[in-house]
Order: sequence, then structure tokens, then C-alpha cells
Amino acid sequence: MFSSKEEFKKSFITRIESKDMRKTTELAYEILWEMTCEWIKESWDRTNGLYKENDEKQLYYFSIEFLIGRVLGQNLMNINAYHIVKEGLDELGFQLSEVEELEVEPGLGNGGLGRLAACFMDSLASLQLPGHGYGLRYKGGLFTQHFVNGYQTEQPTEWIQEEHNADARREDLAIDIPYYGDVQLVMGIDGLKMKVENSEWVKAVPYDMPIVGANGGTVNTLRLWQAEVSNLPFPGDKDYLVYEQETAKITDRLYPDDSLESGKILRLKQQYFLCSASLQDILNNRSFSMEKLPENVAIQINDTHPALAVPELMRLLIDDHHLTWEQAWDITTRTISYTNHTILEEAMEKWDSRLIQSLLPRVYTIIEEIDKRFKESLETQTIDEETFRKLSIIENGVIKMAVLAVVGSYKVNGVAKLHTEILKKREMKELNEQFPNKFHNKTNGIAHRRWLVKANQELSGLITETIGPRWIEEPERLNELHYFAQNHSFLQDFQAIKTLKKEQLLYHLQRNENIIVDSASIFDIHIKRVHGYKRQLMNIMHIQMLCDRIKQDSTYRPHPRTFFFGGKAAPSYHFAKQVIKMINTVAVKVNNDPLLRKHLYIVFVENYNVTQAEYLIPAADVSEQISTASKEASGTGNMKLMMNGALTIGTLDGANVEIFEQAGQENAFVFGMRAEEVMQYEKEQSYDPKEIINSDPEIKKMMKQLVDGEWTEGKENVDFIVGQLLEDRDPYFVLKDIHSYSNAHERILAAYANPVKWAEMCVKNIAASGIFSSDRTIQQYSNDVWHLTKIPSVY
Ligand SMILES: *Cc1c(COP(=O)(O)O)cnc(C)c1O
Repeated sequence: MFSSKEEFKKSFITRIESKDMRKTTELAYEILWEMTCEWIKESWDRTNGLYKENDEKQLYYFSIEFLIGRVLGQNLMNINAYHIVKEGLDELGFQLSEVEELEVEPGLGNGGLGRLAACFMDSLASLQLPGHGYGLRYKGGLFTQHFVNGYQTEQPTEWIQEEHNADARREDLAIDIPYYGDVQLVMGIDGLKMKVENSEWVKAVPYDMPIVGANGGTVNTLRLWQAEVSNLPFPGDKDYLVYEQETAKITDRLYPDDSLESGKILRLKQQYFLCSASLQDILNNRSFSMEKLPENVAIQINDTHPALAVPELMRLLIDDHHLTWEQAWDITTRTISYTNHTILEEAMEKWDSRLIQSLLPRVYTIIEEIDKRFKESLETQTIDEETFRKLSIIENGVIKMAVLAVVGSYKVNGVAKLHTEILKKREMKELNEQFPNKFHNKTNGIAHRRWLVKANQELSGLITETIGPRWIEEPERLNELHYFAQNHSFLQDFQAIKTLKKEQLLYHLQRNENIIVDSASIFDIHIKRVHGYKRQLMNIMHIQMLCDRIKQDSTYRPHPRTFFFGGKAAPSYHFAKQVIKMINTVAVKVNNDPLLRKHLYIVFVENYNVTQAEYLIPAADVSEQISTASKEASGTGNMKLMMNGALTIGTLDGANVEIFEQAGQENAFVFGMRAEEVMQYEKEQSYDPKEIINSDPEIKKMMKQLVDGEWTEGKENVDFIVGQLLEDRDPYFVLKDIHSYSNAHERILAAYANPVKWAEMCVKNIAASGIFSSDRTIQQYSNDVWHLTKIPSVY
């Protein structure tokens, strides 16, 4: 690695001259990419060497998503080269920020779960812990979102640049994965064995991505599998062309639409592909005896998508490595641990037994055996039918992946205190009683190096000037900012940076869209996947109420506010797509109304992803975290916004609870029902939204306008939404909470009227945010679950 700007420039010029005389930004990007890879390679090889020598325990994080975002700038940052490169390029006539814009972020994730995996990778490497990721290399990633006439459209994201992946491909480590086939009982040297014949094989080829830790010392590996046709004999009864097509599909897209049977099979194929390839990779390349697996390897499964790791590890240990069931079970249940991310009924993965039986016949027999043995172990207890049902892995021809994951792992965690409590006391009460020491909480976190140090370099700079640089290695030192929460010059600097970040956001957005936003307006930001429980609908309905008030009450002239939305709807989620359309139509109305737009402006940012988030989050004044209490397991967007000095308007849900605990409720705008209340209503089915409509004139009027299509283009678009509110009895309690939400917004306006006090509240939030660094989360996992040893890199 170079040590000075001059050295960097020299090397850069040599390269640029050997390639092309036209000095385009594209060329600068290619050269910088190449140089960065070379610098990283050294540390990567050294890290791998150290891991081999030391024989230390390794962690493998299995996840169907890794939402890593752009890597070039972050890697430069982590190897402490960003500023040298920036200045060097500047002197050569290039702008690093423009160069960075050329990278298409890999769309290997969908939302918080995938971003968490990426933040964890960053923290593992930065804490110099031996932890790696296993995922899939989706060709098209998550779709790119565009709006056409206000509706979401979906296109594949073309992120792969083959020329960047020449040495990332590890053909030598390719593995064949079996699907289908017939299970046979055969006599082997060590007794009767299961054998599968006529399997259809698919080749898994790994592509390695470096995960560069802070200061560049440790470089871990994110290994992504790509599906290709196998060279193994092909069973004769299928058309080879069909096989080729089906194979390519396995890693073609993230989360294919699973509303159809064919989509379901594909998803199951993906999940098994990830589990089998990764486990075989671990077992094939180990340097210890199989009995020692739990001492040498920890496997964390990120939600239930990789839960097939449990029966697949059993299969490999028994069929390929000739262990007994008891030995294999002991090893498996001391190696795998599981993170639960949701209690939403529709997100609890369940597979039709017949589907697994046909696609993965041997794995199915193992799941049956696990279920049978677990049920036998319950026989000594007196258990009522309901409890027995809940404890069943297989129930009425359905395999419940969450139960399989709990039974097959040694630790199970929820992702925020409230969520873990709900898991233990309600959703998984029966399992928690069977395995009292298995359940624990690990509140999620975010990589502050990306979300503050990189995304908000100006604010990080100010913090470092104020309290020194140690907070970057120990983010809980951000609490030293408490001493400056009333320091006027510091508050002024903070405000100036906030305005600058708002202007940068607007500049970025204006590249693609023509928007007229005043950076002196309050930036109220609601960014996350579009979903019923995240209640974008409540936000837009509240905006309608505001519009009406501005029109009716000439004394109501609130401080200008810009409401930003960002988020994608799952392609098959009709309701969410209608909400997107509704927001876009209301936006057109409001933004073109001469009176309204003096006070309100709406911007729905297309294609919300990590890159967009990096622009939006530092610019936020207000962070919308308004999920129906009990539904958001943790949330991490809430943490990113807090750390960038936005004030939260939020329910007592997920990690919001802990955010309010840290920052103090007086430095946030808390509203709405509590989780207990929501769950009580759900249990009794006693909530009737019509009662609210009839008792609150403001809500009644807003509903009438909505039903009449006053804010939308006719009624078709809102029919479905109205149906959910009335016929489906408002399952996310939008009408129940909207009044209290509206009051919280008025409290925001009152607070914003005192800018110094507002800035003070923002700083108190930043000061309290250090605990939400994923470094803390990872250290806790390591202490309590994985037991990893820090391996300092030697230079
Ligand atoms: C952090 C993040 C999320 C998660 O946001 P929540 O508000 O926690 O749902 C989703 N998408 C992207 C791109 C993110 O960076």
C-alpha cells in the first residue's frame, strides 16, 4: 500500500498512461478499482495466512441477503486511503465523489435483514475477529424500482462487472449440490445406510469478496455461490435444456415471487443451495477432526432462510462422514445458532412436506427423524394438544422452519429487547420452556463506519475536532458529546452541517428529478420497505389531514416541511404497491398547489437502496419510525438516523424502545399504542376502526375524502386501501394511532420553533447512539455465542 499522496498520484498516472490517453471518469474508476483490489489483496492473503496458522475458531454467517452497498469508497475509507486518494485525484482533475457514483451497488438484499448482515461483516473485520459470510451471487439482485404514472415498476439490477471478478471466481472450490433423486437403503461397511440415486446435480461456484476491516489490517471473506450446470452424469429422464434453464434461475434473482408454486420451488432450491454449498465448503477444507467441529466453527443462521443447514449438516455428517445419528446431532446442535427476525405470521416460513420430499428426499427423511425424536423426548411430560402442536416441526404436512431452527441450534436470539421478550413469552413460549437457556437477546446495530464516518464525513469531522478521534474505535465514546450539547458554537456547527447535507441530498436528487425543495424546511424522512406494518399509509393520510387543515384554517400556517419517502414494495404485495401509487398521487396534488406547497412538499425517492440511504440519512431532521407496536422486530434505519442527529417520531416498538431509553423520551416524539395493547386487541379481535371514524370528526372527514377519491386520481387506486381499513378492520391500527401521531407532529413543530433547543436534542441523540454500533452487537455475540478470539494482524 502507498503511504503518500505523491506515491498514489505517481502510480495512478503510470496506469492511466498505459491504458488510454482520454482521461475519463470511467477510466479513473477502473484504475482506482484495480489499485484498491491490489492493496486489499495483500492484507487479505495475510489474514488468511494468519487464520490458517493460528487454527482459531471461525464464524460463518449464513444469510440469503447481504445488502453491502457500494464498496469502493468504503474500502478506501477503511484502509485509511480515502483522503489521500481524494486529494490526489483532485490534483489530477478528477473528483472522487464522481468516480464513486459509477459503481452500481450490488442489490444482494432487500431490507434490514440484509443490511444487518453487511454491517456485521464490517464489524467482524474491524474488531479483527475471524468471521465470514456465505451468501448467493444473484445475477439480477433485487429489482431496480422506477415509477411510471406513480406505480412501481421492476427491472433487474445489472450490477455484475465481469472484468472485476476475474480472480474472485474460485473454480477450484466448486461443489456439486444434489436435488431430487430416489432414497435407497444400502448395506455399507458400517451397516445400513441411506443413499440417493439419480440426483440432479447443480454446480456451486464460489466468488469471493474481500471484507475490509477498519485500518485495513483484517480482511475477511464474503463467499457468494453461483449456480452453474454440473459435469456429473445427468439423469436421463429430463430435458437437458430445461435443466440448464432451471439451473441458471437458482441464482438469477433475489426472492423470486413465491405466490406461485414454481416460485416456491425456486426459493427452496436457493435456500438449499446456500446451505449445502457452504457446509460442504466448511467440512471439505477443515484442518481438524470432525468431532472438533463445534470448537472450531460457529455457524449463525440469519433468520430461517438458511434453516436447512440443520438437516443438511446432519446429512453430510451421517452419509458422507459416517457418523452415527447421535454423534451428528451432538455436533450439529453445538455448531449452529439462529437469529429470529420476525413474528409476522406471513413471514414465518413454512414448507409443504411434499415439496421438500420431492426436491430434497434425503433431507426430508432427516427432518422427519428430528421431528420424531423431539416428539419422543416430550413423551415423559404432560403436554396439552395445543402445546404439542406448537412444538411440532412437522404439523399437518407442513414443515415449520422456525421450530426446526430452534430445535437444531444451541442459541436463539431476538434482535431487540422487546422482540426477544415477545418471542419468549408469546410466539415461542412453549419452545422457550423446553429450552430455557437457549433464548437470548442481541439488539441489532449498524456499522457506524459506513453510516456516520463515511456517509457524513462533515459531521464525523466535527465530532473528531470536538472530542478527539477515539470514538471511531470505541463508538460509545460519542457520549462525550453530552458536554457540548449546550455549547453554542458546537450547535451552530452542527446546524451548518445539517444544512449542507440537506443541500447535498437535493443536489443528488436533482440529477434525476426536477424537485423544488427548500433546505430550510424540516426534512421528515420515512425510508424503509413499503409494508402495511411500517405504516407509510398513516404518514400519507396524516399529510392529507394537514392539507385540509391548511385549507380550512387560515391561522394554521406551519413551518415548511418536506416529507421524503423511499422504499420498495414486494412485487406481489398489492396493498403496498397501491400505497406507493397513493403517495405519488398525493405528492403531485400537494406539490402543485400554490398554498399547500408553501407548507408541505412530498418527495418519493425512486429505488431506495444503500446509496440513496447514505444521501438521505445525514440530511434528516425527523426520523419516521412508526410501525404498529409489536410488529417491527428491531429496525436499524432508526439507529442510522439517530446517529446522524435526526429526532425520532416513533412508537414503542423494536429498538425504538431502547433508542428512547438511551436518548431520553424528552428528546424524541413518542406516540401510539403499546405492544401489549395491540396484542390484546388482536387476541380479542375487539378493534373496530368504524368506532374511531365515527367518534373523531377530523378522521371522519379524512376518510370521506379518501373514499371519494379527492386526493387521488379517482377511486380505483384507493378502493383496495379503503377495503383494508374498513372490511379488513385496519389490521395495522392506522386509524387507532393517527390522532396520537398527529399530536406528536404538532410537538415536532413546537420544538422546531426553537432551533437551538432542537439542535441540542439532536446532539443528545448522537451522543447516546454509540451503543447502537454493530461493533457492540458483534462483541456480544462473540462473548455469549460464538466465542471467537481476536486475531490482531501483524504488519
Ligand atoms: C437500514 C436499511 C434498511 C432497514 O430499514 P428499517 O427502517 O430498519 O426497516 C432497509 N434498506 C436499506 C437500504 C437500509 O440501509
